[in-house]
Amino acid sequence: MNISLENQTAIVTGANSGIGEACARALAAAGANVVINYVTKPEVAEKIAAEINVAGAGRAIAVAADVSNEAQVEAMFVRSRAEFGTVDILVNNAGLQKDAALQDMTLDEWNLVIGINLTGQFLCARAAVREFLRRGPRPEVSCALGKIICMSSVHETIPWAGHANYAASKGGILQLMKTMAQELAPKKVRVNSIGPGAIKTPINTLAWATPEAEHELLKLIPYDRVGEPSDIGKVCVWLASDQSDYITGQTIFVDGGMTLYPGFATGG
Ligand code: NAD
Repeated sequence: MNISLENQTAIVTGANSGIGEACARALAAAGANVVINYVTKPEVAEKIAAEINVAGAGRAIAVAADVSNEAQVEAMFVRSRAEFGTVDILVNNAGLQKDAALQDMTLDEWNLVIGINLTGQFLCARAAVREFLRRGPRPEVSCALGKIICMSSVHETIPWAGHANYAASKGGILQLMKTMAQELAPKKVRVNSIGPGAIKTPINTLAWATPEAEHELLKLIPYDRVGEPSDIGKVCVWLASDQSDYITGQTIFVDGGMTLYPGFATGG
């Protein structure tokens, strides 16, 4: 399948690491202009943008913004419009974990994770929808007025002891995504989620960095390999393209079968 996103612009939040970086590179390779959003390590974001520009398909710029900060999110969209004219695709990817047993979890740890993982997705989605509506249809580039892809997790459905804030943020994304999809479908905005399983990125290095840890992790993955960021990038490009034009309000789990209850594979 040859997908072209030429003349479309994508904002990818948290795009200077892991899954966000892979999505940004894949979108740019398909021809989209890409905004590499970051909140730390500007030099990494600038390097990724430079490499995309050298590759010669879509163009890229690096833009700082904390997705949990309303003013910074608004400024990121203003900057994106100034550079590329409009925004067609939002990949709501930025996220983090602050793990603790429930009895030890501080309100700050709770608020930080909900603020970035959930409120951050709301703030960016709202800004994207306002831009889609302001700009109006561009049938020459896409059937949809705009596309929003929320980076959720298998933990939008699988409970996760010791990670109440993170699991609650991903459960919240499920209903945020579905409600936005229902509300915005008549306006031709498509909203979907990707639910990654275990993907090799800095967020979970401890879970796969040693052979022993990887062996334990693989017990949860029927397909018997840990995922790579590029596994998510490919699905992101497809969800951003008209190839998936009749899909909205869905989570696509990209998890090697982690959501198939592997503990029940031999009885239960
Ligand atoms: P990562 O730590 O490599 O990347 C997270 C990115 O988000 C980083 O660039 C980080 O700087 C950015 N970020 C954090 N706070 C931010 C803020 N306030 N504003 C802007 N950016 C911010 O981790 P990753 O695995 O690539 O995670 C990306 C997304 O995928 C997250 O939403 C995560 O919950 C989700 N996810 C990852 C996995 C996995 O196994 N790696 C599984 C399920 C879901």
